[in-house]
This record gives sequence, C-alpha cells and structure tokens, in this order.
Amino acid sequence: MNKTFIIISVLFLGLMLGCSSDTLDGDTPEQIRPVDKTANLQGTGDSARDLLSNDNFRKLKIEIAYVDGFQPTQEAMNGFVSYLKERTFKEEVELVYQAVQSPDEESLTLDEIVDLEDKHRTVYNEDDTLAIYIYFADAPADGDDLEEGLVTLGAVYRNTSMIIHEATVRRLADQSFFISDADVENTTLNHEFGHLFGLVNLGTTPINDHEDVQVDENGEAETDARGNPIGNNHCSVQGCLMRAELQFGGPSNKGASLLSKNSNNLVVPCRLSGASVLKMLENHTSKGLADPPGLDNECLLDLASNGGR
Ligand SMILES: [Zn+2]
Ligand SMILES: [Zn+2]
Repeated sequence: MNKTFIIISVLFLGLMLGCSSDTLDGDTPEQIRPVDKTANLQGTGDSARDLLSNDNFRKLKIEIAYVDGFQPTQEAMNGFVSYLKERTFKEEVELVYQAVQSPDEESLTLDEIVDLEDKHRTVYNEDDTLAIYIYFADAPADGDDLEEGLVTLGAVYRNTSMIIHEATVRRLADQSFFISDADVENTTLNHEFGHLFGLVNLGTTPINDHEDVQVDENGEAETDARGNPIGNNHCSVQGCLMRAELQFGGPSNKGASLLSKNSNNLVVPCRLSGASVLKMLENHTSKGLADPPGLDNECLLDLASNGGR
C-alpha cells in the first residue's frame, strides 16, 4: 500500500495517543487531522491486489449505506461475504450498516452518486483494514431506458466504491417468479466486486486473453485508431459471472452513456444491465442451481495470479 498513507496513519495514531495522555509537550488537543481519504479515491481495479491478497491488508470493512427501506436482504449479504472469503485471503470481513436519508431524486447521475459518497461514507482504510463503501439507492441510474429494458443494476466508479440501484433490483426481480431480490442483489454485488478485483483486464492482467470486445448499436466490434478491437472489461466465456450480454456505456463508448459523463473524470467500466443479469439468472436457475452464477476458469486463473485464492 502507499507509504505516505501508512506514515500519516502512524502520525495520526501518535497524535491521538498524545492527546489521550497527560504528557503533552505543547500540542493543542483541538488540532485533529482530517482522515486521509486518498487511498480510497483511486480508479476501479487499482486496489485489486490489496483486496485479493493479505500483503498489505488482512481485514475488509464494508460500509453498507442504504436509503431507509432499501436495505439489501440478509441472504444476499451472506452469499456476498462467502464469495469474498472464497476469492480472497482476507481473514475477516466486517459489514457495517448505515441507514441514510433519501436524496429525493428521480434518477442519479454519477456526479450525484459521488456527492452522496462524500456525504455518507464514514469508513476509510486504517492500519491493516481495507475499507469499501456500497450505496444502496432508492432511485434508478440516470439514462436508464425502461421501455427498451436498458436498466442499470449497479456500477463501480472507484477502487473501493460501488452503487447498487436497489429500487431497480427489486423491480427486475418482480418480473420473474423464479428469481428473488436476493438472487439479483447477490449476482450484482459479486459481479461488480469482480471489477474491484481487477476483472477483466482492469488492474488484473489476464493470463489468457478472454476479454470481450466493445460493440456499437449494430453489434459490430468497435476499433481503436490502429484498427484493433477495444476491450470492454468483461469476460468472453459463456456462463461466466463477468460476462455482460448487453453492455452499454462502457469507457470507450463515447458520449453514449450519461453516467460516463461526469465532472470528476471518473471512468465507469461497468453499468451492469438488468437484461444481462436476468438472462444469467434464468440460464442458471433452469439448470436447477441454487447459488448465483460463478466465475469461469479464466477469471479464477487471473485472480489467483494477482494474489487471490
Ligand atoms: Zn460489469
Ligand atoms: Zn470469466
């Protein structure tokens, strides 16, 4: 992890200890330094190795900030924690729930999502604890097209930040008798966390090439200036959790996504679409499988090569 952060943490700890004892040598107790948030404000996938291995952090602390009434199911959170323990070497995964007020928005832009994080997030990396923030929203993503069925279930926009559009998750689950809120929540959480683990080609280098390509509205592969196909940070293997059947508004999809336009210059590598997850879950439940879809061997190989299990 970054040395400056560790040094600042040590200094801060020293200051706290200094304040709590009576052996002050001229320090004024009022001068408490603000929390250093830098390590938690990096790009998606930048903390992949720190999440997977125990080199720098042994514990994961996940803040679940949910709009009152939009708390995720216990069943989904249990499944999510098992997934984290299966894929990483973390010895402890702690969930901290925080009910927050509704922002009273019809839809949320990325800038608004970032502002909400500034307002609500309370956990940041500390000592050997790596902190994650997940916001469960009562509003859909800006740019959703309900008529076309293009809805966003969740997105990642930083190394330790994620949003789940819980209102959209529930609406989607209601469409199918066989699929529960917990199924959609768990699949969305696991998929988005896969991006924080650096999948695919997003901070974790693929061992074998299995990155899918970005396509335009006509289904044609988009190419860069040299004529090479542009990767879309998703997996090309059928049935894999990191496959996105219907990807829209990826980082290179210029201007197509409202969510990708933001004043913070954040790159959103994934807006997980409802249609994609519905298809994933329907294929899965038709085989009679109870657990959410898992990672294929290529994705597992990548994670293992970057410090994961
Ligand atoms: Zn994705
Ligand atoms: Zn995969």
